[in-house]
Amino acid sequence: MSEPSTFALHKMSWPEVAAAAETVELVLIPIGSTEQHGSNLGLGQDHVIANLYCERAAERLAPRLLALPAIPWGISDHHMNFPGTMTLRPETFLELLEDIIGSMRHHGFRRFLIVNGHGGNRALMSVAVQDLGFRLDIDFLGCVGHYTLGDDSKLKAIAGEIPGGHACEMESSHDYYLAPDLIREETLTLGTLDKAFMAMLKPLTDLELEWPNAINAHTPSGALGDARKGTRDVGQSLIESSIDELAEILDHLRHSPRWNGPPHGQVHVIDRY
Ligand SMILES: [Zn+2]
Repeated sequence: MSEPSTFALHKMSWPEVAAAAETVELVLIPIGSTEQHGSNLGLGQDHVIANLYCERAAERLAPRLLALPAIPWGISDHHMNFPGTMTLRPETFLELLEDIIGSMRHHGFRRFLIVNGHGGNRALMSVAVQDLGFRLDIDFLGCVGHYTLGDDSKLKAIAGEIPGGHACEMESSHDYYLAPDLIREETLTLGTLDKAFMAMLKPLTDLELEWPNAINAHTPSGALGDARKGTRDVGQSLIESSIDELAEILDHLRHSPRWNGPPHGQVHVIDRY
């Protein structure tokens, strides 16, 4: 069988995917969003970076990982007051994941990791893991945010007064390293934060109350932090150290009891495929 020259599924031929089934330990499912990122960054930010992160991880850790193409939409209701944002219903999101996992399981892959690039997907990603992880006949389903792994000391060193987390110095740093064409250099601006509004909410957030919270209520520009401070060096440090920790996760999982399912390459037929 042909030895794959890449482990990014959309660039592979089917004989390469068949060969990969013999060595791949974990299939990465990048998820993101198509949503506003202020005047700073393109709307594809979260899914483009999740996609490139997974491709980079699969390249660095070859032949152990297979990177699927990213799901370009997520849960973004809180950004819908800004033009261009698209959002999925939770049930659509879960059904998409189920069909993607079902397709790859049909081809003999049984271990999956959802790699998230958008904070708004977190709650549903946890539901997906609990629901699909138990219900589908697979050996492992986990989820993690690529931005929660790794060493963020260089990011902290450039952080300003306004907290980041969206269309900020972290995200522009990711772009300078992986996708510079997403950066709108000419309109990069400091994020905004309505301090009076945030102070009013604090007693509720301290009690961990949750409610639907449109982002334009506290940042009229749609951006937080300071995207002007992002650098390629910070982005490289964040992404590569995150992949270092992903490699640790892979090593841990190898020794976990649920890891020991049937060997790869064994085909399990699902009727619908
Ligand atoms: Zn983002």
